[in-house]
Amino acid sequence: MEKKILLSEKEIPENWYNIMADMPNKPLPPLHPVTKKPVVPEDLQPLFPMELIKQEVSTEKYIPIPEEVRDIYKIWRPSPLIRAYGFEKLLDTPAKIYYKYEGVSPAGSHKPNTAIAQAYYNKKEGIKRLTTETGAGQWGTALSIACQMLGLECEVYMVKISYNQKPYRKILMNTFGAKVFASPSKNTEAGRKILTMDPENSGSLGLAISEAVERAVMRDDTKYALGSVLNHVLLHQTVIGLEAIKQFEIAGDMPDMVIAPIGGGSNFGGIVFPFLRLNLEEGKNIRFIAVEPASCPKLTRGEFRYDFGDTFGMTPLIPMYTLGHNFNPSPIHAGGLRYHGAGAIISQLLRDKLIEAQAINQLECFDAGLKFAQSEGILPAPESTHGIAQVVREAEKCKMEGKSKTILFNLSGHGNFDMSSYESYLSGNMVDYEVSSEEIRKSLHEIDSLQA
Ligand SMILES: *Cc1c(COP(=O)(O)O)cnc(C)c1O
Repeated sequence: MEKKILLSEKEIPENWYNIMADMPNKPLPPLHPVTKKPVVPEDLQPLFPMELIKQEVSTEKYIPIPEEVRDIYKIWRPSPLIRAYGFEKLLDTPAKIYYKYEGVSPAGSHKPNTAIAQAYYNKKEGIKRLTTETGAGQWGTALSIACQMLGLECEVYMVKISYNQKPYRKILMNTFGAKVFASPSKNTEAGRKILTMDPENSGSLGLAISEAVERAVMRDDTKYALGSVLNHVLLHQTVIGLEAIKQFEIAGDMPDMVIAPIGGGSNFGGIVFPFLRLNLEEGKNIRFIAVEPASCPKLTRGEFRYDFGDTFGMTPLIPMYTLGHNFNPSPIHAGGLRYHGAGAIISQLLRDKLIEAQAINQLECFDAGLKFAQSEGILPAPESTHGIAQVVREAEKCKMEGKSKTILFNLSGHGNFDMSSYESYLSGNMVDYEVSSEEIRKSLHEIDSLQA
């Protein structure tokens, strides 16, 4: 049995897969924040290039990956599919465990799969500069690399507390030529307003989005890029699942379940959608499990509502499972999962029971992450440990029931920049956070007035 299933460059998919074409119920339309009418392309034009706006609403089943994007993908794609023999042995389970490893990308996560594509379409439409926000720094790193490769300038608003606590991510972005500002900054109206009221403000993702959006809207040669949640972002990530299906064919196997962590839904959608097509079209019966932090449980304890994508209410209203855009998640180490909602497609699929969700506390996640690292030699990103914890639960169930199942999970990134998280776990200082139902009810009540 092969341990590592590799594809050649030639087998990088030629098209992304658009699940919108096959969904039994399409997502509800995003709404204009003021008029509450469905958003039209012109509403999005100050922010995104036309080609990405088209992809956002497309129902074409396959969308060609431009040759220039495929050429850059070749630096790290196709990514390997690895059979986790060591992890299986450590768990003493009859289950077969495979992982698709996205940490081989230059940024160390799946995020360049869309960053490269977004930079490409902006470049093609004559844009000179992209702005974005970043929390922990993974998305900012991916976009910096993409802009450097395609000859665009990149301006990153990094949440001030992370800017101060994670200097290496900032330096990595600078290495790729990006200008990185601690948010709140003095560059924008939004930032100056906050700084006047509170000079010591440590920032938030919502504020950083507002700053990046403001900068993009101000200039004709500048647009904005988002690293998750939106349909076109999930579309670009489907290279992960498309490659994995080819690799499983080579292995002569097929997963019974596919597991991935969920922030806004891009790596989950990326690995899951091509397999979900097999359920919808070929009568397969694969389970799909999205794993969120127990302290930010939008899919398991949130509600399906219209809500803003950001804290300041500048984005369209998106139909999604949400905890409310004012929900303030506890400071868990998986920064990339501290997001109040999930994208519209993921939310509709959950509503239709075509996918499942689980919430897990961070101590259980890091425990699973450490077991994985010690048996497979790769340190997982704190976000990725959420998927791994669910794999451990499923593998233990297999053992108890004496059944062998084939499990695939997405190892969305490595944790080599997250040593302080592991330090906190190893020294016994890490804690779990409880979210009360009252807290969720209160935050959801605040968006009552936004409903159509
Ligand atoms: C950003 C990130 C996530 C979460 O974001 P999604 O859009 O839900 O995929 C998960 N894992 C890693 C390594 C990330 O960088």
